Amino acid sequence: ALTMALRWRFSAVCTALLMFVDECLQPFRLSVSTLQSVSTRLKKDMIRGLGKHTHHRAPVKMLPTFVRATPDGTEKGDFLALDLGGTNFRVLHVRILEDEQRVVKMDSQICAIPQEIMLGHGEKLFDHIAACLAEFLDSHELKGQTLPLGFTFSFPCEQLDIDKSVLIRWTKGFNCSGVEGEDVVRLLREAIHRRGDYDIGSVAMVNDTVGTMMSCGYRDQSCEIGMIIGTGTNACYMEEMRNVKRVEGEDGRMCINTEWGGFGDDGSLRDIQTDFDLVVDKTSLNPGIHTYEKMISGMYLGEIARLVLVKLTEDKLLFDGQVSDALQTPGRFETRFISEIEDTGLENTQRILTELDLNWSLGDVRLVWLVCDTISTRSAQLCAAALATIANRIRNNRGLDHLKTTVGVDGTVFKKHPNFSQQLQATVRLLAPRCDITFLVSEDGSGKGAAMVTAVAQRLALQPVV
Ligand code: BGC
Ligand code: MG
Repeated sequence: ALTMALRWRFSAVCTALLMFVDECLQPFRLSVSTLQSVSTRLKKDMIRGLGKHTHHRAPVKMLPTFVRATPDGTEKGDFLALDLGGTNFRVLHVRILEDEQRVVKMDSQICAIPQEIMLGHGEKLFDHIAACLAEFLDSHELKGQTLPLGFTFSFPCEQLDIDKSVLIRWTKGFNCSGVEGEDVVRLLREAIHRRGDYDIGSVAMVNDTVGTMMSCGYRDQSCEIGMIIGTGTNACYMEEMRNVKRVEGEDGRMCINTEWGGFGDDGSLRDIQTDFDLVVDKTSLNPGIHTYEKMISGMYLGEIARLVLVKLTEDKLLFDGQVSDALQTPGRFETRFISEIEDTGLENTQRILTELDLNWSLGDVRLVWLVCDTISTRSAQLCAAALATIANRIRNNRGLDHLKTTVGVDGTVFKKHPNFSQQLQATVRLLAPRCDITFLVSEDGSGKGAAMVTAVAQRLALQPVV
């Protein structure tokens, strides 16, 4: 059923055409009860991931992070941070100012990682990282200092301790050989030793979700969830130790990196995957892996949209049935186009379609908007279903009638899309009615948060054991 608003928006489009397009988009539309069912499935998978004997086959990995406390406001000092796995690779110098309760980015530098390194041998990748770090230390006169280093490494890792972290598998655009199954901290130290011109102090390994939670946690101590909706998607949260069966100890809490991107990898979401999702998976670097992520995150949304546009054009519902070479090219329809198209005005859409060599009419422009809106709405709703599952779990864990909590968020999709965050929040309210969630957009969580994790680890190490 089309709402009046849609009808108004599409007054220029022939109603029959709109009906055909709408039918093609129908599989992307998820009802509240479907979203509830998705949440129930994730709830079960989270329990499987946490269990000692069910963990090894669980699609949602629920990885212990060895982060046992959020900041208490007494942390301080200078830190280096590396950030690998988001849009850019970066090196940062971060200072935590206790007096002002602030984390300050002193300097930072972006280092490009060429595609051949992203897909080449792991040793080359770590040599490249060590070289970028050397250049940064040189140009900022930090080489003599041996600062502690927070390494934000945004991939699923089996963490054995705060400074021992084995890559389970690459995701997103990376696929370097010889790294899966290895300790990433060891690979980094070895690369630095191969150079021999500088050294680093203690290292803390951090997932970007954890960095995001920790950087917001300095400002707001009820921040106990970290969420990323960028190139990839994932979340972490504070779980009760008694439920973390794979780590000894019953007291207190530990941050769990859920790796919710892997949800559905056992086929549990087959009923909501569209034909387009199946193609995106099959043509990706890692078929069969990170099913949920491929329906949600920035690395894939543009490609889903492109496939839908190609199909609608082939069905003669768009562009007079003429598919351009550009539109036929995988990756050419970028996720940022979706944000631009959904942003105010039709000019953006017209410009993008012209750049893609498409012969558009005003009706096409409106239909393209509808395609983008449908795909980004589904992404926001799926994210919301997963976030609601976590919030409901925290509320149950603590036996609370009502939970008030804060989520630290980062990622280009969340930050750049005009109404993603609104849709996400509205859907979370529906699916977790007894949770009152504040969203705090993290400013550079991957960088500042890594420093914060390192600082909290130091604080705990210095504390007398009681
Ligand atoms: C990775 C996660 C990461 C997320 C967001 C996923 O592909 O598996 O570890 O947190 O992307 O960057
Ligand atoms: Mg335990």
